[in-house]
Amino acid sequence: MSAAEIGDLVEAWGGVQDDYQSRRDAAKDRIVLECARALAADPGGERAHQWTLGLVMMLPYVGWLPGDGVPGAVFEAVRAADGALGGRPCPHAVHPYAEDELEDHLFWLRDLLPDLVDESAEWDEDERPRDEWLCPRNVAGFARIAMDFIEPGSAAGVPPRLPEDTRRDIESLSAVLHGCPRPGTDVDSEISRVGDALGRAADPDDRAGLVIATAAVSWYAISDMMRSESVLDDLAAGLETALTRLSDARCAHDGHPGLPGSGPDAVWVGLHLSSPAGRRVYEAERGSSGWGAPQEALLCPVFTAATARETLARLRERREALFGAEPPVDGADSPVDGAEPPGNRDNPES
Ligand SMILES: [Zn+2]
Ligand SMILES: [Zn+2]
Repeated sequence: MSAAEIGDLVEAWGGVQDDYQSRRDAAKDRIVLECARALAADPGGERAHQWTLGLVMMLPYVGWLPGDGVPGAVFEAVRAADGALGGRPCPHAVHPYAEDELEDHLFWLRDLLPDLVDESAEWDEDERPRDEWLCPRNVAGFARIAMDFIEPGSAAGVPPRLPEDTRRDIESLSAVLHGCPRPGTDVDSEISRVGDALGRAADPDDRAGLVIATAAVSWYAISDMMRSESVLDDLAAGLETALTRLSDARCAHDGHPGLPGSGPDAVWVGLHLSSPAGRRVYEAERGSSGWGAPQEALLCPVFTAATARETLARLRERREALFGAEPPVDGADSPVDGAEPPGNRDNPES
């Protein structure tokens, strides 16, 4: 492959990455699918590294709004590459895929990939040696990163990474709690979804994380920014369901940590703790920054039950103050005299 050819390909792949949030786009789907087909046709071949890294470049689009069948085709292609390349012997102790976060790789692959494919190009060995990048096991590592991106938990031996859905929820909820929701956000349903997720949580650790997240958004739900009866009810329903499963909570702790003082920080902690992948990221972040309470204490059932009870009491008190006590009498749908009706109070700056 000539330098010009790989340059054109990388330009096209970069274009898919650039405005991945714009809209579903048949041209972008085609570019991704062509790359996936090329890899699937020869997943252990000489050019497997360029197709694999090309697909990695385009993951933001694959994770956002691709056409039907696109994520599946990418997943099958990178899984085949991992299968073909992951077991080959190599002399390296480390590989570039494991050294940085996906966001960093996305940032520099566009410049790096043409020089990697065109072996006559100059190479800055400070970036890590070229042979480490070209090593089949490095390519297999990137293939697994793509698998884990598309189906969290589907690949072992990759740096821990927060699932995309959780990442978006944290960003969106933080913006709401900071008082400046992102355009197009339905604030009521954004907050209610935390209570819905809590009601559905089956795993005790996932549930403990979601109790923390519910506590974090409850401060906003009871504030004058909100005044929504259905939001208060949705959060309360999630907590009630959780408490039915925590009735026999016991522990041997002498005390328990407090939640972070700010709502966005508490959402960050709670949503990280609400999935296995998120808990791995939490531990890694805690290890490097030293910030945050030990996971084991935050996931304690006694602490979880106490947090759920306190939060539920807060929500009930507010509900009664605004809308009267539960349960509502038949036909009493109209707002209580003197209470502001729930409405579009999403943006306090408007
Ligand atoms: Zn190697
Ligand atoms: Zn405990």
